[in-house]
Amino acid sequence: MAGCTERCMYCEDSHGSDIEHFWPKSTYPERLFVWRNLLLCCAECGRLKGKQFPLDETNDPLLLDPTSDDPWQHLDFDPETGNIVPRFDIERNAFSRKGDATVAILNLDRREALARVYLRTYRRLVKIALEAIDDPDPNADRLVKRLQATDDNGLIAWCIHGTGKTADPFRALRDTHPDVWDVCRERLP
Ligand SMILES: [Zn+2]
Repeated sequence: MAGCTERCMYCEDSHGSDIEHFWPKSTYPERLFVWRNLLLCCAECGRLKGKQFPLDETNDPLLLDPTSDDPWQHLDFDPETGNIVPRFDIERNAFSRKGDATVAILNLDRREALARVYLRTYRRLVKIALEAIDDPDPNADRLVKRLQATDDNGLIAWCIHGTGKTADPFRALRDTHPDVWDVCRERLP
């Protein structure tokens, strides 16, 4: 699930070095050997999470489950700071509860090293998008491959499917080359 780069499943940056029980093993020993409960995470995320595992009133975890939740439904990226913050849900007029809990538990809005790496990746993605906008006839296949090869932190999904698509340069890419945009939407996760 963590892919060949063996990244932490929470922050998608640091090297995953620890086996982490999503449902804590001390409280839920019956899940000790359940495959989907075993995640690869970095020492920092493991330490921050500790035994914290809040549930909502229906006993659903409030921490995002990397095996089933779509993170950008609940999280947002701040292109100014590089921080990961809870996503604001306009229909509910509130922040995502899962996003809120996950950011708070894993300090995703206060991890400088993480923000730096996210920003670096984002700037590279922006550069590629700007080049495609300037190109009168960009090759969609080549663009998808370049974006994929550059995206070290799962940020392209935010740019194409998440809040990022409502801001430039990704909004401009959609308006300038709608066909190419559709290919990106289809082929990038
Ligand atoms: Zn991590």
